[in-house]
Amino acid sequence: ELTADPSRVLEPRKVSQSHYSLVDCQQFKNAELIHVSKELSQKLGFNNNDLETEKFEDLVVGKGDYHDKSFAMNYGGHQFGNWAGQLGDGRAINIGEIENDQKIWQLQLKGAGPTPYSRRGDGYAVLRSSIREHLCSEAMHHLGIPTTRSLSLAVTGEQVYRDMFYDGNAAYEKGAVVCRVAPSFIRFGNFQIFAANGEIKELQQLVDYTIRQHFPHIDANDPDKYITFFQEVATSTLTTIMHWQRAGFVHGVMNTDNLSILGLTIDYGPYGWLDDYDPNWTPNTTDNQHKRYRYGAQPEIGLWNLWQLANALFPLIEDAKALERVLDSYKVSYPIQRRQMMQAKLGLQTYEPQDESLFEDLLELLVAYETDMTLFYRELITVNHTTNAEDAWQTISKSYYDVEDMPAPIQNRWMEWLTLYVKRLEKESAFAKARTKQMQQTNPKYVLRNYIAQMVIDQAEAGNYKMLKEVHEMLKNPYDDQPSMDHWYVKRPDWARNKPGSSQLSCSS
Ligand code: AMP
Ligand code: MG
Ligand code: MG
Repeated sequence: ELTADPSRVLEPRKVSQSHYSLVDCQQFKNAELIHVSKELSQKLGFNNNDLETEKFEDLVVGKGDYHDKSFAMNYGGHQFGNWAGQLGDGRAINIGEIENDQKIWQLQLKGAGPTPYSRRGDGYAVLRSSIREHLCSEAMHHLGIPTTRSLSLAVTGEQVYRDMFYDGNAAYEKGAVVCRVAPSFIRFGNFQIFAANGEIKELQQLVDYTIRQHFPHIDANDPDKYITFFQEVATSTLTTIMHWQRAGFVHGVMNTDNLSILGLTIDYGPYGWLDDYDPNWTPNTTDNQHKRYRYGAQPEIGLWNLWQLANALFPLIEDAKALERVLDSYKVSYPIQRRQMMQAKLGLQTYEPQDESLFEDLLELLVAYETDMTLFYRELITVNHTTNAEDAWQTISKSYYDVEDMPAPIQNRWMEWLTLYVKRLEKESAFAKARTKQMQQTNPKYVLRNYIAQMVIDQAEAGNYKMLKEVHEMLKNPYDDQPSMDHWYVKRPDWARNKPGSSQLSCSS
């Protein structure tokens, strides 16, 4: 159905008129499986005994029985706003699919060696970034955020050289392989590359394939099928980004090659989680100047990326107005969804026009004085319509980074806001239970803060995976109170404030 690259040459090169290239995984002699996401393995149909077998370990480290079928995908993309041409799977190799419970899952090894798309890269991944991908993709899934998943984490037993290490030093690091799992890894960039090359036949093949496989409800005979497809991509893209905004997730590299056609969160690189609420924050040091992919800009960037996808689909649709209508629907939906998100975060069951200023005042206040986003919303749950403002302030004061030094005018503004909020809750006293529940399910208690990931990494580099297992376990129930995990329900510690790797990371991994 899709076209395979006829050449098996591995050298980095321009690939033409092909959706993918056949490649073999590197054979690591001393690979060692470190961790498996059990819950996901069960979804794929593995039982606990399977996980102990050599066959399973071989499968997820690149030694499985899939030679001559494994492949790397061809895609392009806009990187930081500029068309970058052919990118492709430079260090990801698709090893096949598993069908279970009437669902088909693609398996892909990240870090299993070079492909024709490796360009200047080596095709490998380091333990540090692989841990981050493994933990965060599972965390996102359990947060209810559409995402690719991670079945397993293995070390390759080989060293990988990184000359753009986050502290500016070159170093050898442990190599690792993650087995990613998703219904599809197709990105916006897969469509863009064919449009850019004028390979319209391949473009149409890919769109038809994607619709057939992943949008089966769209009728192949419907003359509007491509517009309907684009509308669905726009909708799911916005939905996922609004989940990011709700939870405080910053992707960090929203290039069009890193946006999934299914709206899945994909490519966990220099992502981060807000500690203090700051719309201008990006975890990506290579984006420090323009902050193109800062937290507050993510919805807007989603639209910009959809605009690029529209351009790529244009040769098949040739109706600019229809494409623009889809983009306009995104613009209309965003403020509505943002309002609904704030309602849910504050636990309001009804809507009043004045709520808009309640939301905007809060978002200003959160910026005005360094306040931990996760702690704030979580602590706010215990405030109710009978709480006085003073007690409410005491409750949420845990979330201020420096409560002692809060200037009086800021404290006064907080008291005013809390007074208004409590008053607002009086009108909702009948829904107190629903409010608690909604806030608990909207505002996660445990997220993969950057310093937590860094602590896990530091331990794992030394061969100790205890904390990795603990954090993986904790992140399975991010919305539940887990008293045994409350040492992680804290503000980012002072030592992690400006430490490289603990708050910011570069693209290089
Ligand atoms: P990313 O910024 O991770 O989305 O990657 C952008 C492009 O660079 C994609 O084509 C990746 O496959 C490629 N790439 C990133 N790291 C490596 C690497 N270590 N080896 C080969 N290709 C890479
Ligand atoms: Mg990528
Ligand atoms: Mg800050």
